[in-house]
Amino acid sequence: MNIGRSAAEELDRSDSLADVREQFDIDPAGPIYLDGHSLGRLPHRVRERLHRVIDEDWGRDLVASWDTWVDWPLTVGDRLGSALLGAAPGQVAVADSTTINLFKVASAVLARQRGPLVTNRTNFPTDRYVLEGLAQAAGVEMRLIDVDRDTGPEPDLIGRAAEGASLVCLSLVDFRSGAVAPMREINEVCARAGALVCWDVSHAVGAVPIELDSTGAELAVGCTYKYVNAGPGSPAFAYVRAELQRELRQPIWGWFGQREMFVMGPSYDPVEGIGQFVAGTPSILGLASLDAAIEVLAGAGIGELRQKGMALVGYASDLIEDRLGEFGVVLGGPRLPENRGSHVSMHHPDAYDLGAELAEHGVMGDVRPPDLLRFGLAPAYTRFVDVWDAVDKLAALLRARPSEPG
Ligand SMILES: *Cc1c(COP(=O)(O)O)cnc(C)c1O
Repeated sequence: MNIGRSAAEELDRSDSLADVREQFDIDPAGPIYLDGHSLGRLPHRVRERLHRVIDEDWGRDLVASWDTWVDWPLTVGDRLGSALLGAAPGQVAVADSTTINLFKVASAVLARQRGPLVTNRTNFPTDRYVLEGLAQAAGVEMRLIDVDRDTGPEPDLIGRAAEGASLVCLSLVDFRSGAVAPMREINEVCARAGALVCWDVSHAVGAVPIELDSTGAELAVGCTYKYVNAGPGSPAFAYVRAELQRELRQPIWGWFGQREMFVMGPSYDPVEGIGQFVAGTPSILGLASLDAAIEVLAGAGIGELRQKGMALVGYASDLIEDRLGEFGVVLGGPRLPENRGSHVSMHHPDAYDLGAELAEHGVMGDVRPPDLLRFGLAPAYTRFVDVWDAVDKLAALLRARPSEPG
């Protein structure tokens, strides 16, 4: 490959999504931002929408705005479902955090069918904690399985672990290695084993096209502040397949899930459908922000975003191997861009120090235990020259280090 900066500049010139970057708030003199897998950048459209909702809906119309606000958890859920999740209307509720939604979904499954809960030992911490807590409270087995971090969950292994279980919970994109799980195959083996699957798509949504309906997915949860760019603490979502909604009752019996909520009746009688998964007063500013953020990605197209993301990941992988291999940096996760999400991870014994030094030199990536340095390459606004400059800075830092004895 041509490892010069000019090759990166050429890739940026022929990038069909270059104008999408202009829809984000970016200080040209600011740091190189490779942390969009943790907190996405601010779209102009989100700032404008928030100002409007604050000034007009809240500031002027006050409580009268609830006439429309009350529908937002489901209308924004439908838009998210159609633009980014491959979900037909009526199956996505936007509310609460991913943690809370996983609790609601997994509890509902347990109430329907008591049995072991399954996840992988290296899954995202909040998923493991929620499931462990539920397993303990319900007195069911918690099955923690070992999945190869670098290749991701393999259908046969998951199928065996799913035997006799009530629920299997997996991440679509591994937060460490970036490995993409084969969703369709895993849905199939788990269906055969009689277990439901809940997909945590937090590290995938907005970066990887997700096809919940057509791959036979039953349940999913995820957040919106990473690649979806809806801002810190923006609300998460729960997807429940239409056919399953009548069989599941989530454990938080809140007034926002109640039929004719303003009648304020004596006992809980939930609405039919996904609305039951909304519990209490939704974050209206968060919903406004999410709605505007979805428009930005829908305008670009998730297919185009994925193409750009894979190009960035492939380019970064080549460059890292070519320029950093000699310093002991080893690329983690699947080598082929189609098998990974939109971040690259690198193993190095000094990952933590290097992450801090990079930040001092104007490159914001992040680190994860035990020895991983991650670069998130959010396709909506990351340029090839950003990748080149970050790898170049990292090479310079590594070159300047005292060499290892022996
Ligand atoms: C970021 C992330 C979460 C976040 O959970 P919150 O409850 O929104 O804090 C959950 N799961 C995965 C896989 C994530 O990547």
